[in-house]
Amino acid sequence: MPARITAWRKVKQKIQKKMNNSGPCKICISKKYFVGIFMQSSGTMQRKRLFLGYIAICLLSLSLMGRLGYLMLAKADYFGEKAKEVRQRERAIKAERGRILDRNGTVIAGNKPVSTISVIYNQITDREKVVSVLSRLLDMDPAEVRKKAEKKSSREKIKTNVEKEVSDKIREMDLDGVMVDEDYKRYYPYHDLASKVIGFAGGDNQGILGLEVKYEKYLAGQDGSILTTTNARGIEIDGASEERIEPVAGYDLCTSLDVNLQKYAQQAAEKVMKAKKAKNVRILMMNPQNGEIYAMVNVPEFNLNDPYTLNHKKGKNEKENQELLNQMWRNHCVSDTYEPGSTFKVFTATAALEAGVVKTSDTFSCPGFRVVEDRRIRCHKTTGHGSETFVQGVQNSCNPVFIDVGARLGVDGMYQYLNKLGILSKTGIDVPGEAATIMHQKKNVKAVELATMSFGQSFQLTPLRLLTTVSSVINGGKMITPHFGVKLKSADETVVRNLTYKEETGVVSSETSELMQKILASVVSEGSGSKAAVSGYDVGAKTGTSEKLPRSSNRYIASTLGFAPADDPVILAIVLIDEPEGIYYGGQIAAPVISELLDDALPYLGVEPKPDATPESTP
Ligand SMILES: [Zn+2]
Repeated sequence: MPARITAWRKVKQKIQKKMNNSGPCKICISKKYFVGIFMQSSGTMQRKRLFLGYIAICLLSLSLMGRLGYLMLAKADYFGEKAKEVRQRERAIKAERGRILDRNGTVIAGNKPVSTISVIYNQITDREKVVSVLSRLLDMDPAEVRKKAEKKSSREKIKTNVEKEVSDKIREMDLDGVMVDEDYKRYYPYHDLASKVIGFAGGDNQGILGLEVKYEKYLAGQDGSILTTTNARGIEIDGASEERIEPVAGYDLCTSLDVNLQKYAQQAAEKVMKAKKAKNVRILMMNPQNGEIYAMVNVPEFNLNDPYTLNHKKGKNEKENQELLNQMWRNHCVSDTYEPGSTFKVFTATAALEAGVVKTSDTFSCPGFRVVEDRRIRCHKTTGHGSETFVQGVQNSCNPVFIDVGARLGVDGMYQYLNKLGILSKTGIDVPGEAATIMHQKKNVKAVELATMSFGQSFQLTPLRLLTTVSSVINGGKMITPHFGVKLKSADETVVRNLTYKEETGVVSSETSELMQKILASVVSEGSGSKAAVSGYDVGAKTGTSEKLPRSSNRYIASTLGFAPADDPVILAIVLIDEPEGIYYGGQIAAPVISELLDDALPYLGVEPKPDATPESTP
């Protein structure tokens, strides 16, 4: 090792240099040790290496034994579970979603038994047969089926939502490695009936719209599961214990909707929409005594069994299509506000009578307009109604009469009754997306605003809000909550819960309520609502024609609300025709629809016609 010795010499020289400067040092003493290492024989080194290796192996073995002990003792449960997971396969058992029923127990949202077909790679014994049978019965491309059947996964889905007849055939074939699992698919037997109310459930059976989403927690139920034991290759072991957690079906929702009344209303709406080339038509029919809604129509409706297909126009791109879908699904009765126009005079008249600022015999005069501050506000009869009583003013739907009545109420009085009759609150209906009333802030209301509010202009509310307030006016003065949900039943028909809603009596006095019933009946028998009349019944009604904004656009909403029998109403309805072509007056085009609806609904609801109501001419 000459190089090493040379190096050592250099060190030695350095040390000696240092020794000459200072006395003896530690480096000097260790000189012998350095020399020793460099001079050791190869035999000694080998022994040393062997010894070190032995020590290392001992340490390693000890640590491995420790680890093994730890895994065996402390983590035994954890790995036991892990092992089980490997050998157990969990499959979900879908819970049956609760059905939605109409008031007579007719199913309006139900479930269709369907199946999911899948394959287990390791269990397939005849792959060619599996591919040919499944592609033929499931009407699928053989290449696609083959790709899935050849995929080395523990379970591969071939097709979901397979009709029962098809899956039964597949099951009968008893092919190794082919699994048929029961599933449910939401099904709406009446397709587009009350589509925007019922709503629909998505592919995972979760509610997306309408009652389906509002009552999701009751309808959904709880999925169960099956745990099957398999061998290391993933094949289910025959006779091995199977852990099964049963699914719990969702509750059935019993509603107040009436399939027959909804059908009548939808047909009537479609007829008038077509005749008037209208943009849409809305109809609401409810029981004004308790808030149960019989029918809620928004035509055009959409097919609940195919909710993602646009029912008329298509958008240019994905974003536009989504926007059009949202529009198509929108419940205009609940989610859209409009200017109510003259139908709102029901409220103003009630508030004025309640406040005692007007009597039925009070007289007014209409020259065809009223000047309020710097504004000249016209009556719809531009030549004027002349001298008229308050009741005649309601019958004529005379704006100057209501401007005067509103002024007598004053801003404070107006807002007191807007609050009391619920106009400024949401109704609390049990479908999502209710829009709030858009009203002036009280501090901004001056004479002109007060005047226009009095006859239903310069603010907006939903048809539902209006009808709910009118219910209180004609039902003896009780504020009700409009609703669909009546009760929840379990799969064995047991009533799990009766749904209750907020009610408040005395929001209108019974005297005023009775008076309003009579006044509104006279609107039909003697006034502007004559086309709402039904032979054999006393009908109360109020018509309205609202000009859409901007005013210059000449677009209107024609509407009429009506109820019967006038002295003890069992049904209250409203019709709104959005942007009709040609004649657009509510009393001309919407009132006849009310007449048609009540004519169908009253006998259906068991109300006998009065024999003396319309005297027949004797032959
Ligand atoms: Zn007038």
